[in-house]
Amino acid sequence: CGVFGVRDPQQPAAHLTYLGLYALQHRGQESAGIAVSDGDKVLVDKDMGLVSTIFDTHRLQALPGGLAIGHVRYATTGASAWHNAQPVSRHAGDIFFALGHNGNLVNTTDLTTESGSDSDVVAALLAEALPRHGDDLIEAATEVLPRLRGAYSFVLMDETRLIGARDPHGFRPLFLGRLDTGGWVLASETPALDVVGAAVVREIEPGELVVIDDDGVRSVQFSAPEPRALCSFEFVYIARPDGQLAGIGVHAARRRMGVALAAQAPVEADMVMPIPDSSIPGAQGYAAASGIEYGDGLIKNRYIGRTFIAPNQQLRENAVRLKFNAIADNVAGKRLIVVEDSIVRATTLRATMKLLRDAGAAEIHLRVLSPPYRWSCYYGLDTSDRSKLVAATMTVDQIRDHLGADTLAYLELDGMMNAITPTPGGFCTACLTGRYPVP
Ligand code: SF4
Repeated sequence: CGVFGVRDPQQPAAHLTYLGLYALQHRGQESAGIAVSDGDKVLVDKDMGLVSTIFDTHRLQALPGGLAIGHVRYATTGASAWHNAQPVSRHAGDIFFALGHNGNLVNTTDLTTESGSDSDVVAALLAEALPRHGDDLIEAATEVLPRLRGAYSFVLMDETRLIGARDPHGFRPLFLGRLDTGGWVLASETPALDVVGAAVVREIEPGELVVIDDDGVRSVQFSAPEPRALCSFEFVYIARPDGQLAGIGVHAARRRMGVALAAQAPVEADMVMPIPDSSIPGAQGYAAASGIEYGDGLIKNRYIGRTFIAPNQQLRENAVRLKFNAIADNVAGKRLIVVEDSIVRATTLRATMKLLRDAGAAEIHLRVLSPPYRWSCYYGLDTSDRSKLVAATMTVDQIRDHLGADTLAYLELDGMMNAITPTPGGFCTACLTGRYPVP
C-alpha cells in the first residue's frame, strides 16, 4: 500500500493528496481514498479502482480543507472489497479520526475479536483507547502502537492534526517533507513528495510518531528501537526507481544488482534485455558490466497495472496477455539475456517467455536480480500462500524448465545486499532467507 498526508492551511489538501497518491499508485491499485478536514469535520471518500478513475475535479472539490490523508490499497489481509478500502475512519467520543496503513500486522487475533482488515483492528483499538485518554488521539496512539506487532507505516488525522507513525523495525518507509508554503507532508516514497513540490526533510524513525499541528512538528518515541528491518524487496521491486530509501537511490541499487549478477552469472549472448519496467536499471547494469549490447525485446502496455499486484489468479492471468508484446524484429534469431527483478508466482514471466520464443528468440538466459523468493511475507506483500510461490515448491532447474528458459540464475543474497549498501544489517530478507525479524 501507499500512504500520503498533508497539512497546509493555505492549499486544498485533497488536490495535493490526489497528486501524491497518483505518484504512489504502483504500491496498490485495488482501491484508493482520501480523508480531509476543514478544521471542523472530517470527510472520507474512497472507492475501488485507480486514483485517476475514482477522483475528478468535482469529487475533489467536495473535499474541502487544508488537512488530508490518502491511501492506495494492495490487499494483504481482508478481501479486495469496498469495505476494506482506506482510509478507515471512526467516531469516538467527541472526535472523528481517519487512518491509512501500509504494512501488515502479525498479532491482530491477540488484540481483538474484531474482524476485517488489520487496519480496522487498529482503528477499533484507537477508538477503545480514546476515552481512557480524554479523547486525545496522540495519547491513545502512544498507548495502542506499542501493542502492535509487525509492519506499519501509518498516516492518521483528526479534525486538526496530522500524525505519522512507523513500526519499531521500520519495515515500510515513511517520509516527512516540507512545502514552500510552510506546510508539511508525509509519504511512503520520495517521488510523492517531489510531485507536490515538497522537499524531503527526513524519514520518520522506527518507533517514532510525529504530530503536525499549528505549532509545527513534534516527535514522540513510542517504542524503544528494535533491530532495523527495512524491506529489502522495496529496493528490488516495490519502490519507484526515482526515489531514495534509507539514503540509498533505488535506481542505482537496482543497477548495481545487475552489475553483480553479470559478474556472478555470465553467459555468451547477443543482447541484454529487461522485462520492463522495474528490471530496466538492472538490465542496464548487467549490459554495462558484461559488454553485451543492451536492447528492448518487449513493449509494455503502459495502461496496465502490475499483474503481480492483481488480487486473484484469474485476473493475473488475463492481465498478462494485455501487458506485454514482443518486438519480433529485435529478438528473432538472437541469444537473449533476459533480466527480471524477481520471480514470485511466475505466472506473468512464463507467459512472457513464451512470447519471446514465439517471436523467434534463439536462446533465453534468464537472470534474476534477487535470490529465490521461497518464504511468505507477513509484513505487507500478499504472498502468505506459500504453495503459490514457485521457488517454494520447485528447484531452480525445475523453475528453468517450467519457464522455458535455456539457463536460469538468481543473484545471491550477498550480492543483492551488497548492491543495496555495503553496510551490513538493517534489512528484512525473510522472503528470501526464512529469517523473520518478527515471528
Ligand atoms: Fe520485504 Fe520480503 Fe521482508 Fe516482506 S519478507 S518485508 S517482502 S523483505
